[in-house]
Order: sequence, then C-alpha cells, then structure tokens
Amino acid sequence: MPKADYYQTLGVSKSDSEEDIRKAFRKKAMEYHPDRNKNPDAESKFKDINEAYQVLSDSKKRAQYDRFGHAGVNGNSGFDRPFDGFEGFGGFGDIFDSFFGDSSQRRSNAPQRGNDLQQSVTLTFEESVFGVEKELAVERVEVCQHCSGEGNEPGTKVTTCNTCRGNGQVRRTQRSLFGQFAQIIACPTCQGKGTIINSPCTNCRGAGLERRKRKTGVSIPGGIQGGMQVRITGQGDVGRNGGPAGNLYVQVNVREHKVFGREEFDLIYNLPVDMVEAALGVEKDIPTLDGTTRLLKIPQGTQPGSEFRIKGMGVPHIHSNRRGDLRVLVDLKVPKKLDARQQALLKELAESFGHNGTTVEQPAAEESAKKPVDSNPDPEENPNDKGIFDRIKDAFG
Ligand SMILES: [Zn+2]
Ligand SMILES: [Zn+2]
Repeated sequence: MPKADYYQTLGVSKSDSEEDIRKAFRKKAMEYHPDRNKNPDAESKFKDINEAYQVLSDSKKRAQYDRFGHAGVNGNSGFDRPFDGFEGFGGFGDIFDSFFGDSSQRRSNAPQRGNDLQQSVTLTFEESVFGVEKELAVERVEVCQHCSGEGNEPGTKVTTCNTCRGNGQVRRTQRSLFGQFAQIIACPTCQGKGTIINSPCTNCRGAGLERRKRKTGVSIPGGIQGGMQVRITGQGDVGRNGGPAGNLYVQVNVREHKVFGREEFDLIYNLPVDMVEAALGVEKDIPTLDGTTRLLKIPQGTQPGSEFRIKGMGVPHIHSNRRGDLRVLVDLKVPKKLDARQQALLKELAESFGHNGTTVEQPAAEESAKKPVDSNPDPEENPNDKGIFDRIKDAFG
C-alpha cells in the first residue's frame, strides 16, 4: 500500500508554516492518541500522524520530502540517516510519557517485586555428583521486624496525609505540547502511602524494611555441573507495596577430583596399564565414586587409549533415575627403567619378533620406546615363545 501524503495526513498544505504544522499535529495527535481514542484504527492513524510530523517538523527532511517524496526521507534513500519515526519510541506508554512528562511517580505506590539475589557455593566433586543440602548465609532485605513494616515506631500515632486526604494520589495539572492535562500522581507529601509518620521506626528510620542475614537451606540436586545455578523462588529481597519477593540464585562451583574426571554424565577414570599387562591381558580393580570397586577384564592385546565402560556408575542425570557410565581409559605405561633380567627377557622377546635385538643407550632409548610395535603376534599361536611371555610376566610382577 502506498504511503499517504504527509501533508494530507496532518491536514495541512505545502505552503503552511512550521507553526501551522505543529498546531495541526497537536490537534490530530490528541484526536487519535490510542490512550484517548478507542477506535481500532486509531493506533495506525496515530503512527501515520507521528511519522508525518517527524518529517514535516524537520526543515531538512521536509525539503527532501518536497523534492523526492517518501523516497527522500526513508532509510534506504541515502539522503539522510535512516528514518526513525515512530519506531524510535518504546510504545504508546513511552510516547505518553515523553509528551506529558515523566509519569514514573504515578506508580511509586504500586506493588514492586523484590530484587533477585545471587550467591555462590563451592561443592566437592562428590557433592556435585550425588547432591547435597547446603546452608547459606544470605543477606537480604526483609520487612522490618521492629515495626512490622509499618514504618512508625510501635506505639506512636500515624496521621492521615492532609495533601491527599489519605488517598495516596493527587491530581496534577500540567502544560504540555497538547495543552493542559490533568494527571493522577502519587502524593508527593506521603509518597503515595496516604499516611504521615510522625515518629519513624528507630530500627528502619521509617522505611519499613531492614537488611538481615539469614541462614537459608539449599538443596543441590545430584548431577549438577560447575557454572549452573539453582534458583530458590522467593528467597530474594522482599517485595514492596505487596509485590512478590525476588529469587535467590545460587551459582555452583565444583572442585576437581584427584582421581575422576567428568564428561557430561560420564565419569572418566584413567587406568594405568603397563605394556606387559596390555599384551597379555589382566584383571584390574577399578575404583568407583560410590566407594566400591569393580573388577574389569583388560583383554589380551589391549591398545593404548582403549576405552571400557562400566555401565551406570557415572553421574546421575538431574532429577532422574538415569546414570551415566564410568569410562575407563587405558593409560599405557612403558617402563622407564628395566633391571638386567627384564632387559634380557625383552631382548629375547625382540628376537622372537624378528628384531635384531641391539639396545640403544639412553636417552635415545625413549625414542625407540615410542616406536609402535606393529608385529604383535598372539602368544597363544607361538608355542615356542610361551616360555618367554610367562617369564616376562613374572619379571614385571
Ligand atoms: Zn498524601
Ligand atoms: Zn521499622
């Protein structure tokens, strides 16, 4: 739909002065302001009026509009910075405020939600996995206990406000762009309370609120991770004028574990396995975070970095019966020092693999240790070597 002519929208002509345009805008805006005009198309009409006025009240924009029409004043024309008419306002409430003055006072006695609070707690790894009850000392704003939030010293009299006669609100007449307006605001004498305190509470000086440090219990569910937050509804600052209290957010930090790592809901355990155990197979007792051990079979010919899973011994999912797994990662250890007997046995083994059996003195020995042993015959299939493997196994304990 093509845009209506801005002059037509305001009901003015091209020759009209700035003052004429201003007057016309005031008249139209009054007529179509959505707070006053309940007609369904008043809102879009008001938008159009506002947009037209943004352009025609600005001499530079008006000149561009006269020469180029809408293209001269709309964002992509390249003539001016992007047009920011109606959208520059936050909505009708804001427009109302910016035309009629700050109205925030109107609502100073309205219910107000209390502030949210934040606290942090550091858990052991076990606590984060299995959950824990913690007690936090939280300082928050509460209703003053001395005056029960009334603000006056108990036993003293409170009088009705003369300015508002106890209503808490007064009418204020204000001049604005549109002329004179009556506005209802919170009574400035009593701040909207309707009453005057003659002897303020000695504890809160009349505020009705006080800061208190309180012990607050927090239940941390098992499976939580560092960086997560637990929300405790209603444990923040108390609300005002009957508004709800804020929330308490507990930020969780988790200490590292000496033995276990964590990936999502799995626990990670690095199992040291020496080369002989990896080659021949071995049974190992695996510690679990629950405090028990599980027997794990490391099969013959296990490779470095191999992974085994002990099902259901990981981290519980939050608020669920499911648990992750305990993942056992094989950390292959190559012996750094060998005694004479072990060396002799390994040389014998090397010969059986078809290697020439020469030893390289350290530190180059580490280089050769890194070399992958690709010919890895199964000892069962080489009965001639069985004696060597058994003897190696014995030699390495
Ligand atoms: Zn008052
Ligand atoms: Zn008090």
